[in-house]
Amino acid sequence: MTVQLLGAAEIRALAADLDVVPTKKLGQNFVVDANTVRKIVHLGRVGAGDHVVEIGPGLGSLTLAILQAGASVVAVEIDHRLAARLPQTAAAHGVSAGSLTVVDADALAVTTLPGDPAVLIANLPYNVSVPVLLHFLESFAHLTRGVVMVQAEVGERLAAAPGSKTYGVPSVKAAWYGRWTLAGTVSRQVFWPVPGVDSVLVAFQRDAEPRGTEPERRGVFALVDAAFGQRRKMLRQSLSGLLGGSAAAASEVLRRAGVDPTARGEQLAVEDFLRIARV
Ligand code: SAM
Repeated sequence: MTVQLLGAAEIRALAADLDVVPTKKLGQNFVVDANTVRKIVHLGRVGAGDHVVEIGPGLGSLTLAILQAGASVVAVEIDHRLAARLPQTAAAHGVSAGSLTVVDADALAVTTLPGDPAVLIANLPYNVSVPVLLHFLESFAHLTRGVVMVQAEVGERLAAAPGSKTYGVPSVKAAWYGRWTLAGTVSRQVFWPVPGVDSVLVAFQRDAEPRGTEPERRGVFALVDAAFGQRRKMLRQSLSGLLGGSAAAASEVLRRAGVDPTARGEQLAVEDFLRIARV
C-alpha cells in the first residue's frame, strides 16, 4: 500500500470544501508540513503491524503519515464534518479499506476503542490535552506507549521532575502511569492557522506493572490535588483535610509514610504520595 501525504494547499482546499473555519474552541491548528508528521511517526516508532489510536485527526495529515508507516489507525474526532470526511480522504490517498476506523465522538467520553490499540499518536487539542491523556491512560490499559504534540508549557509539566519549577499536578498524575520525556520542539509555522503558543513533542512509556490499585490511584490523585491546591503550604497543612482533620493528625500520617510534614507538594515524587495514600 502506498499512501500519499496531504500537502498544505490540499489541506486548505479540503477545509474550504467542508466549510471548516478552524476554531480555537476545538483547538483546531492543523499541521500543514509533511516533515513534521513524518517526524512524529518516526519518534513514535510506528511501523507495520502497529495498531494506533489518534485523538483529533482533523483533516488527516498525521493520520495519513501513521497509515503510510504501515500501521492501522482508530481515529477519534469530535467535529462531525471532519470525522465524516476522513475515510474519503484516506481512500483517495491510497489507504486500503479496513486500515482506518473513525470514531465520531468526544475523546473525553470514549470508553472503548476497537482493536485495543497499543500506541497513542496525536497532535492534541490543546485546551483538553491533559484531561484527554489522563482519561486514555486510565481507561485503556492496553495503551503502552506514545508520542503527543502539546503546548510547550504543558509538555514541560508532563515531563517535569520533583523539585523543578514546572512540577505540578499533571506531572505527578502522568508519572502514575509511566515515564514521560520531552522529544523535540515544533515550529509554529508548521500549523494552519499559526498558533499563539509554542509546541513540543512528548513521548511516554507505560510502566510494565501498574503502580498501585484503582483505590490507591484515586487516593493519590486526591492527595496531589490537595497538596498543589495550596502549593505554598506545608503538607501537614495542605493535607490536613484529607489526613485526620488537623495538622497534628496529618503530621502523624506523614511521618508514618516516611515523609517530612514540613515539606511541600512540589518536593514529592509519585511514590511518596503513594506511601501516604497507603498509610
Ligand atoms: N491531527 C490534526 C493535525 O495534526 O493536523 C488536527 C490536530 S488539531 C490540533 C486538534 C483536533 O482535535 C481537531 O481536529 C479538533 O476538531 C479535534 N478535537 C478537539 N477536541 C476534541 C475532543 N474532545 N475529542 C476528539 N477530538 C477533538
